[in-house]
Amino acid sequence: PTEGAHSTPLLIKNLLLSGRRYERSQEIIYRDISRYDYATFNERICRLANVLTAAGVKPGDTVAVMDWDSHRYLECMFAVPMIGAVLHTINIRLSPEQILYTMNHADDIFVLVNAEFVPLYKAVEDHLTTVEKTILLTDGDEKTADLPNLVGEYETLLAAAAPTYDFPDFDENSVATTFYTTGTTGNPKGVYFTHRQLVLHTLTQAGMMGGLDSMRLFGNRDVYMPITPMFHVHAWGIPYTATLLGVKQVYPGRYEPEMLCKLIKQEKVTFSHCVPTILGMLLNADGAKDYDFGGMKVIIGGSALNRGLYEAAKARGMKLSAAYGMSETCPLISSGYINLELEAGSEDERAAYKIKAGVPVPLVEARIMDSDGNFLPSDGKSQGELVLRAPWLTQGYYREPEKSAELWAHGWMHTGDVATIDEMGFIEIRDRIKDVIKTGGEWISSLELEDLISLSPAVKEVAVVGVPDPQWDERPFALIVPREGQAMDAKVLRDHLKPFVDEGRINKWAIPTQIATVTEIPKTSVGKLDKKRIRVEIAEWQEA
Ligand code: ADP
Repeated sequence: PTEGAHSTPLLIKNLLLSGRRYERSQEIIYRDISRYDYATFNERICRLANVLTAAGVKPGDTVAVMDWDSHRYLECMFAVPMIGAVLHTINIRLSPEQILYTMNHADDIFVLVNAEFVPLYKAVEDHLTTVEKTILLTDGDEKTADLPNLVGEYETLLAAAAPTYDFPDFDENSVATTFYTTGTTGNPKGVYFTHRQLVLHTLTQAGMMGGLDSMRLFGNRDVYMPITPMFHVHAWGIPYTATLLGVKQVYPGRYEPEMLCKLIKQEKVTFSHCVPTILGMLLNADGAKDYDFGGMKVIIGGSALNRGLYEAAKARGMKLSAAYGMSETCPLISSGYINLELEAGSEDERAAYKIKAGVPVPLVEARIMDSDGNFLPSDGKSQGELVLRAPWLTQGYYREPEKSAELWAHGWMHTGDVATIDEMGFIEIRDRIKDVIKTGGEWISSLELEDLISLSPAVKEVAVVGVPDPQWDERPFALIVPREGQAMDAKVLRDHLKPFVDEGRINKWAIPTQIATVTEIPKTSVGKLDKKRIRVEIAEWQEA
């Protein structure tokens, strides 16, 4: 390089500066409690950086947050990495033991705690090995809650701090964020992402969602509200993208259907994202049953989007688009893209593509691999494990060398998902390797069965798992929440699935002969079907 030439590191501070440059008077809103513009937002981030620095936070320290989705969380997503510290977004829906495990494992030094979580914090406090100081986050007047190691209350500290901060340049490969997988087996595992990775992820997301005509998902005229928590994979990174683009942002706090609906109407939210179960909850919420979502664009990911839910949302005025990713992938890997070829086809065909996991976004390489590490063809038929390369994949699990080596076996990141990739590049997730139902030498996709069962008008929600069977190895078991006033039993289910057998979409062994109707299906901490717990419950019923 020429002497004196400057090579600009890719840092999170650059995402922030861009939003203010374009739309300084757009607003950032928190419930019906707070609203301010991007200029104020930038100033508050400087104030927070001053507060943290004055309290002794140094580059490389881990600063954790225990909060629902808020403007303060967004401020932490910027200020903490921008001073060179690492942001740990605590999954507050894990059990107290797991939360404690993650806080000690991540070496949290500083914790920002929402008043609502003070009892939880105090319950684990005695066993925390690294935490030195805390800051209280509160909406109310209880600015002196009895929180141990308290530096002060967030708003009071910010008000007293200087409104400017000279954010330094540093190595773009410094870790910016960390959080833990929801860990359905064993301890949660820590993933981590650098400034460079988050900047590249944000630019790609902005380019995909804003730039490609078939999506026109996201731009400065949109109003954004997340409905996947900020503690889970940075709310899919979309708050960073929204800030980059200067979009009006709405943060709903704890997810209460009434508040979500109120904010959607009041702030005219046009763009959101969530897992399928939360979408179902929103469509059926009291106070939203007659609401027309008037073209609201919603990205669905985290679990497969089934056709039944897709149609129900469409009938209520939502435009859905599926995307695929996981904690280990920052998360964006692929997203629904309707190319000109599909646009010329039928609506039914387009819908079938829209509910797949989408086409890899730029800079992502996706392949199908067999269990010996050989690539399989991307012909839409060959099934194997989906493996990935991309600039923003976690480089391992924090302090877990063996699990990290497994994750990156053969130089590709292993997703643990069985998938196909077709000639157009569309990924279809067939199942998680551990959820595939193996019956009589055949593999049945639990996701496909759920999809077909969801099309029955009698079904509100469904989960299918494999249960041990002496003769067939495993058999599918369907857990169904029927719609009000609708009958559901093994015969009704068989009559509904029979035509799909006749069409050759599933073989007749796939029809579940064992079913149970329930009022609720167990979910994980982020609202996905909890298949591990479902299997345990079924085993308990069968024993009883
Ligand atoms: P957890 O493993 O704790 O549920 P993740 O959020 O990382 O946490 O989940 C990632 C998994 O979610 C993927 O491996 C995949 O099985 C599933 N998933 C995500 N998006 C989709 C999608 N569009 N279609 C089907 N499955 C999906």
